[in-house]
Amino acid sequence: MKVAASVDLVIQNATIATASDVLPEQDIAIGGGKILLLGQNLTALFPGAGVLDAQGAYVVPGGVDSHVHLQQDNNPTGDTFETGTRSAVAGGTTTVLAFATQTRTDESLHPIVEDYHARAAGNCYCDYGFHLILTNPTPSILDEEMPVLVREGGISSVKLYMTYKPLRLRDRDILDVMESTRRLGMTTMIHAENAEMIEWMTDKLEARRLTAPYYHAVSRPNIAEDEATYRIISLAELADIPILIVHMSSKMAAAHVRRAQTRLLPVHAETCPQYLFFTSEKLRGEGFEGAKCVCSPALREDPLHLDAMWEGLVNGTFTTFSSDHAPSKFDHPIGKKAGTSTFTKIPNGLPGLETRMPSLFCHGVLTGRLSIQKFVELTSSNPAKLYGMGGSKGTIAPGHDADLVIWYPTQEQAANYKALSGRAASSMTPFALDNAMLHHDIDYTPFEGMEFANWPRYTILRGKVVWDRDNGGVLGSKGDGLFLKRGRSTLSKPRGVFVNELDLYAK
Ligand SMILES: [Zn+2]
Repeated sequence: MKVAASVDLVIQNATIATASDVLPEQDIAIGGGKILLLGQNLTALFPGAGVLDAQGAYVVPGGVDSHVHLQQDNNPTGDTFETGTRSAVAGGTTTVLAFATQTRTDESLHPIVEDYHARAAGNCYCDYGFHLILTNPTPSILDEEMPVLVREGGISSVKLYMTYKPLRLRDRDILDVMESTRRLGMTTMIHAENAEMIEWMTDKLEARRLTAPYYHAVSRPNIAEDEATYRIISLAELADIPILIVHMSSKMAAAHVRRAQTRLLPVHAETCPQYLFFTSEKLRGEGFEGAKCVCSPALREDPLHLDAMWEGLVNGTFTTFSSDHAPSKFDHPIGKKAGTSTFTKIPNGLPGLETRMPSLFCHGVLTGRLSIQKFVELTSSNPAKLYGMGGSKGTIAPGHDADLVIWYPTQEQAANYKALSGRAASSMTPFALDNAMLHHDIDYTPFEGMEFANWPRYTILRGKVVWDRDNGGVLGSKGDGLFLKRGRSTLSKPRGVFVNELDLYAK
């Protein structure tokens, strides 16, 4: 056998899980940061290589968290690229897609992208890329700058907001952006909530002096998400482009997505851990505690929405499962406490980058709600494909980056390993989460007290062990992570179908 690159590391006794298969008793040979081959007894073939024994446990592709806010000017007490990506690797995520944000007055995207590069370069523990947040899509940006950013910059996605005064676009502007992203083969992400419904409700609440954190959820009822979701699907159908609706939380909104998919529209959606586990009851915490869980869309009152999000993960309504990590410190005058007088001043968002993979693994896979293949698809394979990283990230196959997560063996896997090798496997002692265990730079976690029966035991980034939970914790360094030049989505494309006789893009 001839292998071009030399083998540095062999992972043995892996139960490889990809989006399609579970392959027990595998060895994985890694060299030059890539997966070189899969097979049996590879340690004998490559005696010089280091060996890591997975002890029969699941080995999955490194997590791709495609929705992460790091070091943005609008959350000054949030995580930096350094602290955010440090927490990523400790939770099994090896790629993050963060945002480079245009403000309304920015006339050019180039300085913004350079600025975000300067913030991230040399500071990341995992690989990273940027989505562009467009708030002022001028013709010169759409026609002249974006083609350069796609072609030379490797930035192949944009995010648009239908809500928040400083960010939101009118429907007409959204259509103009869609025309451009269609031409450039970019993926378009949307925050779908009806801004004016929310503003109207907020005014009503403030007039009644109902300003505690809990009223944040009352001000943003799910009907605002439902309407905007239906509207954005209609805009995308009119413009004939694929979209991804971010952080969905509402049963009715998810049903709109499902119906669109049944009609074969390339409509994708994402949900996040907070919408699986929490209701707005969390916002009623003692004193100002509820502010910790102020995020948008808001946590929903009725648990039927939580059930609907779980169903959407299983039945394919959701393409990706992201954290929407967008934290602010709690005990800080310009963090959450900026909103002690009224919920409208509480910075939106919560931390979740490190807990995303383990929360779904423990409460989805281990409980039997979700297959391990579905877990891999949602947390890694689909985001890699949707955002143009399909050739290098998101699966375990020769030629792909050796980004891997090794879990602790389940009881069954440990028993099999014992039978095969005669050696005992290390199982993990379940624990209740405490914020002090996490690696972000945030003074709380909404997942405090959550039970975890498993956690990434090792995280491997391009062949390097960057997290070893039992021996040293974070072993990687800032600067290990590289900027990813991304290409076109391999999951979705325009259909070339128009709503009437007008072929919008005919030359
Ligand atoms: Zn977000």
